[in-house]
Amino acid sequence: MRLYNTLSRRMEELPPPPGPVRMYFCGPTVYQRAHIGNARPFIVGMWLRSWLRARGYDATLVHNITDVNDKIYDAAPGKSAELAARATDWYLEDTGDLGLGMPDALPRATESIPSIVRFIEQLVATGHAYAVEGDVYFRVASDPGYGRLSRQRPDQVEEQEPNPLKEDPRDFALWKANKPGEDTSWDSPWGRGRPGWHIECSAMAEDAFGPVFEIHGGGLDLVFPHHENELAQSLALGHDFARIWTHNGMLGGMDGEKMSKSLGNDVSLRNVLDTWGREVVLLFFFGAHWRKPVEFGDDVLEQAQAQLEGFRNVFRSPSERVGDWAELEAALDDDFNTPEALAVLHGWRDHELLRRAFAIFGLESLADLEEAPTDLAELAARRRDARDSKNFAEADRLRDEIAAAGWEVRDVADPPGFQLVPRP
Ligand SMILES: [Zn+2]
Repeated sequence: MRLYNTLSRRMEELPPPPGPVRMYFCGPTVYQRAHIGNARPFIVGMWLRSWLRARGYDATLVHNITDVNDKIYDAAPGKSAELAARATDWYLEDTGDLGLGMPDALPRATESIPSIVRFIEQLVATGHAYAVEGDVYFRVASDPGYGRLSRQRPDQVEEQEPNPLKEDPRDFALWKANKPGEDTSWDSPWGRGRPGWHIECSAMAEDAFGPVFEIHGGGLDLVFPHHENELAQSLALGHDFARIWTHNGMLGGMDGEKMSKSLGNDVSLRNVLDTWGREVVLLFFFGAHWRKPVEFGDDVLEQAQAQLEGFRNVFRSPSERVGDWAELEAALDDDFNTPEALAVLHGWRDHELLRRAFAIFGLESLADLEEAPTDLAELAARRRDARDSKNFAEADRLRDEIAAAGWEVRDVADPPGFQLVPRP
């Protein structure tokens, strides 16, 4: 199995099964209901873990929750802790409703403060960080390789977190002194305060896996500064960090005035799930390569819905021995190419094989065909009799009555009969 590594700009082979493959995927900052775009790293991480396990790997996924942050303070002045707790519950509920299960661990920044403080103390002790009036900054000049992930030249790094007291505009905060209006803070050797964003992930990943692990994931928008800084901090302690860095592409098409007729301006995962259902959401993401940007909107959701209906029709038809598991492996083992895998699955007619594949991606429900209510089945039988006796007007009337109840009656040639299918 190989994956594209942002750090080396190359495809890299994973070690052979059973691995282990330890994955740390950056999670959300919790201050509102998660956006549909936030669902992508969650889904990619969960699918990748599931596929790796199907391939015989010992795979684990850790997905953090950033529950202390400027955005949370701004969104709920004086009550940020309550908002963060509520928004964490929303995130767990909404991602849970995707039906993919949960990561092996979901560490929260506020529950990892002792490890974070210890990490910063080590950076200060080794000269990679310094304290200024209750803040602590990472000394970027102490890392000659800084910029290795985002490929920024050392003399052209964007300024981060402006503060005239910093030694260098490139330096970034590891610890921030408590300010008026910030309702959460913890004791530290530098006074009361709270961690910077980047150090959380270095500390939580190391807590979960030890310093070195196989895959670090997140959205493409995290390459700089978040992941560049995580990597610099962790390497500064004298050990390697994540071996492969995977970055998922962003969702586009959501910046218009009103992006979608079906969703209005509410592109929360919650609203998309409630409006379209989890299977449509999953198939939409499955049809796009995880590394590529993807346009989001009604038309692509409709396409996903039509594809789902196509798979349901395969399950309504007799199973045929058409399908080759090796084709699915070839697609997914090559940089986890789900659009290629989707094309493979569209060619399959073997119900058993399709069920096995869909189960890996939380879509086994496609095989569960809804039974029509018995009164509709009786109407359909009467329609068949009317057709058999060439009473087509009555047959059409019965068909319309069935349609009005939300079902479609389909004639089946072999064996002769009919099927009742829910209308999409
Ligand atoms: Zn992170």
